[in-house]
Amino acid sequence: MEGRPVAVIECPEEIPCNPCETACPQGAIQIGNPITRRPRLDAARCTGCGLCVAACPGLAIFLVKEEADTAEVTFPYEFLPLPQVGDVVTAVGREGQPLGAARVVAVRQVRTSDGTWLVTLAVPRALSSEVRGMRRL
Ligand code: SF4
Ligand code: SF4
Repeated sequence: MEGRPVAVIECPEEIPCNPCETACPQGAIQIGNPITRRPRLDAARCTGCGLCVAACPGLAIFLVKEEADTAEVTFPYEFLPLPQVGDVVTAVGREGQPLGAARVVAVRQVRTSDGTWLVTLAVPRALSSEVRGMRRL
């Protein structure tokens, strides 16, 4: 994820689910049989397109891009009103705990989006494995 966005899958339960596998045009996510297997990512194949992020009903996939001191974390977002590019929001962790202020750098939909948007925050690189959502200041 150095210099390019790569999917991060946080799907710990063995559940019958595979939209992430079928959404990926690169064949980078494998579940196979039985369908309850946990998804496995071939990071070398991942282009960071975000199709799996929008397709996952569990909101369990993120994109992370790391650079020298900063990182961009992309997560699925299903609330209204949407944030706007340039907004400063509170970055939050997996439990919703605040992790500091962060700037919104992208708000987009992809082909697999239904009501799900992809929001990208610029955060300190040290928080790239911690930030997984946002709330408004
Ligand atoms: S981000 Fe795109 S290329 Fe990467 S695993 Fe997801 S769907 Fe596949
Ligand atoms: S679509 Fe989401 S919840 Fe379903 S297996 Fe893939 S990562 Fe897990």
